Amino acid sequence: VTIGVAHETAAGERRVALTPETCRKLVGAGARVRVQAGLGARAFFLDAAYSEAGAELVETAAEAWDGAAVVLCVQAPEPAGLGALAHGTVLVGLLQPESDAARGDAIVATGLIAFPLERLPRTTRAQSMDVLSSQAGMAGYKAALIAAELAPRFFPMLTTAAGTIRPSKVLVLGAGVAGLQAIATARRLGAQVEGFDVRPETREQIESLGGRFLDLGVHAVGEGGYARALSDEERALQQTRLADHLKGVDAVICTAAVPGRRAPLLVTRSMVAGMRPGSVIVDLAAETGGNCEATVPGSTIELQGVTVAGPLALASMGATHASEMYARNVFNFLGLLLRDGMLAFDWRDDLLARTVWPERRVDDAG
Ligand code: NAD
Repeated sequence: VTIGVAHETAAGERRVALTPETCRKLVGAGARVRVQAGLGARAFFLDAAYSEAGAELVETAAEAWDGAAVVLCVQAPEPAGLGALAHGTVLVGLLQPESDAARGDAIVATGLIAFPLERLPRTTRAQSMDVLSSQAGMAGYKAALIAAELAPRFFPMLTTAAGTIRPSKVLVLGAGVAGLQAIATARRLGAQVEGFDVRPETREQIESLGGRFLDLGVHAVGEGGYARALSDEERALQQTRLADHLKGVDAVICTAAVPGRRAPLLVTRSMVAGMRPGSVIVDLAAETGGNCEATVPGSTIELQGVTVAGPLALASMGATHASEMYARNVFNFLGLLLRDGMLAFDWRDDLLARTVWPERRVDDAG
């Protein structure tokens, strides 16, 4: 089988779906790997390392994809790029065909066998392929660092000749994969950290990282271990209690999300206005609309003395390690598709059948 990888074209995307490490493993498993020169430059993987790992380097995306049965990416190529792929090509990446209709249409029109990795069920067997988790970990880490950088205060407690500095109080909203990494990172920086989530099992996870669980008395567990959207009453209760609590917090890191929906709105403008001047909000949910009403995706603004940051492409900020994890996830996923260096689809495998898009019937041939 030939595997092709071309440059990522999305704005701000620095990550890559193939590293020299996974290239070597694929070549070792009998695949031919074709890489567009300069592929890993923005994640600091050099062409020479890919060559050494057995890749064939080519100049253009078209050459990388020419004759490739499998194409790997982080984000989907533009619809025009998708149209350049051959009918029946396997495309693996964070393709978002459901939220990006033009891309979805192009995938269907070109007849690609698309595996949008965000559709992968989050079962135990899929953990080694779970790109959402690996990338959320980097995003949570960076969000905590951004909060520390924007804050006009130290995170740790300091005892100095100029007196004692009290530690910052950091509140993390949403304690999924990103939120837990933000909690761990803020703790390592010495802050007093609290975490809040509507899934009660997060209490133990927050506490195991040295954080305090903030109990707002709202529980909302939905399908597949995820949160569900709150009712109007639950939301009102959450907001009243949260508004009060925010008055004593120095930094808020927002990571709350509900699958397939806009990010829940947790912090209103008036709650921001009630916070102490010099407080900081970093809204990691900016990409899906934000947990904070004042968030401007891609910008950092100040609202009545409170800094509100809505950084985008956080995982790309840690492109080297994010790519290493992403590429390993992809390599593990390819293990479901490749037998002795050849493509073989076992549609009875729920990981393949539930990830492929558009959905196909299990008894479909091919
Ligand atoms: P996510 O990005 O969808 O959501 C982030 C967090 O926001 C979640 O913890 C969610 O409970 C929380 N949230 C939603 N609405 C909220 C609200 N109104 N207020 C406060 N918090 C709110 O989730 P994720 O981080 O991708 O994953 C979350 C769950 O999936 C966790 O249970 C995680 O352990 C599980 N998971 C399981 C596996 C597996 O292999 N079994 C792999 C990855 C993740």
